[in-house]
Amino acid sequence: MKALVYTGVEELTYREENNPVETNGEGILKVQASGICGSDMHAYHGKDERRIPPLILGHEVSGKILNGKFKDKTVVLNPLITCLKCEYCTSGREHLCPDRVLLGMNRPHVRQGAFAELITAPEQNIYEIPKQLDTKEAAVAEPTAVSLHAVLMAENSSKKTLSECRILVQGAGAIGLLCALVLSKIKNAKNLTISDPNKLRLDECSKYVEAKFVNPSNKEINIDAFDIVFDTVGLEISRQQAISVVKPGGIIIHIGLTQPSGQFNFRKATLQEITFIGTYCYTNKDFKNTIKILANKDIGDLNWIEYRELKNGASAFKEIHDGTCSAPKIVLLP
Ligand SMILES: [Zn+2]
Ligand SMILES: [Zn+2]
Repeated sequence: MKALVYTGVEELTYREENNPVETNGEGILKVQASGICGSDMHAYHGKDERRIPPLILGHEVSGKILNGKFKDKTVVLNPLITCLKCEYCTSGREHLCPDRVLLGMNRPHVRQGAFAELITAPEQNIYEIPKQLDTKEAAVAEPTAVSLHAVLMAENSSKKTLSECRILVQGAGAIGLLCALVLSKIKNAKNLTISDPNKLRLDECSKYVEAKFVNPSNKEINIDAFDIVFDTVGLEISRQQAISVVKPGGIIIHIGLTQPSGQFNFRKATLQEITFIGTYCYTNKDFKNTIKILANKDIGDLNWIEYRELKNGASAFKEIHDGTCSAPKIVLLP
């Protein structure tokens, strides 16, 4: 099969790779679409110790199953493979399973990713998609589930309904846009601000969601102004802004993790009872609900997805790296 292989820091090679072998309890997927994720970019920059070259990256994937229980079904894969037995897996919090493995990683276990013509996954990770959901669009189920989960975490901790809250979303990438879409179109949030230094991205996002779109230095983002801040960036500077602009008693939802450490205003966090919530991935239930949300067009049309050919994937990575790309999500087609 052909695959786009991560062969070194900032290097991707489109080349011939061995086909995956058929194993019991696993389905082989003929990939129709696979999205480029922020975490793939992190690996591409050589900053992910769980993704070491050579490796096929990619985990946001849809297509048709060639064998086994789901043969000939059109499906999307839940890339998070978990043990099914631990206290988390048996209580609906599978994403916290200590033995979890993600597609497109090779440490501690090898699981080749989706930037290829074929990929295998355990049958428990295969989800059939309804007819009204376009197979190519279904590739965004994973980032949509991440965003839905983050919004639900905020909703569960908020003393007010989300529709009454003033909310800041930092970052207009796919997760920022998807959080804003879920907040606005499903949770009826009316007072949304989205910030990003990249004007191209803000302009693109403004076509799909009702919000104020500003540079992070805009005075619209002022001290003690927001009930909830979604940090989809995860830089020290974005966290410092989040804690500064969140209201007393407010909530910070931390989804981005570009810089895992740094200074933080613990004084304000303590004296003003700020709730800081780290959020990661999604539960299996969130993933199922996401497929329904996408199929019913609950978050609107998905024309913000840009499609490119897999064989030109290296240039897509380069453009995302250079910041010259306005699309919040690029999906590669083999
Ligand atoms: Zn992803
Ligand atoms: Zn488990």
